[in-house]
Amino acid sequence: MQNNDAVTQILIDEQEIIEKCKDLGKQISQDYANKNPILICTLKGALMFYSELVKHITCAFSMEFIKANSYEDDHSTGKVEIKSMTSFEIKNRDILIIEDIVDTGLTLHRLCDYFKENQAKSVKIVALVNKKTKRLVEIHPDYLGFEIENHFVIGYGLDYNEQFRNLPYIGIINPKYIKK
Ligand code: 5GP
Repeated sequence: MQNNDAVTQILIDEQEIIEKCKDLGKQISQDYANKNPILICTLKGALMFYSELVKHITCAFSMEFIKANSYEDDHSTGKVEIKSMTSFEIKNRDILIIEDIVDTGLTLHRLCDYFKENQAKSVKIVALVNKKTKRLVEIHPDYLGFEIENHFVIGYGLDYNEQFRNLPYIGIINPKYIKK
């Protein structure tokens, strides 16, 4: 696997992502002033987006991490499992889930339920990318970076079998890397 021919098309470049993080950060800082929300990074895909976004948030907040899995190769298995998370009190806290990409919506549906069941005061979603075409459950990001068509994309944290997360842009995967 080589990063120089990993994508057939760059859909969103690094500068666009940084500009979007500035806008989202500004909005979140206004909406959450004096609320001290918990910003939850969904590992591993949201790590790069999260790292950029938090630089542009000026209100007080804390940082926590969660890992949920549902993907194999380039498709969702439909079964979402919370694998691990950092330890923190959820009850009565404002939760912002930071997600890389929304596809079927199953992952965020499961995560939102989890935080609501644990009596969070509010649960909202920040997503870098939204793919609307394969939605199986109703999920609407409260803060959104970009809408894309139904492509399998990699880069800026998004992987294919753990590869390509370090690409500084989001692009459509070169089909030669997809296992038949
Ligand atoms: P959902 O549960 O909404 O189907 O999918 C959410 C998770 O699936 C994302 O956090 C991401 O890990 C993975 N995913 C969905 N679409 C893509 C894609 O186009 N590329 C990559 N690399 N992962 C994706």
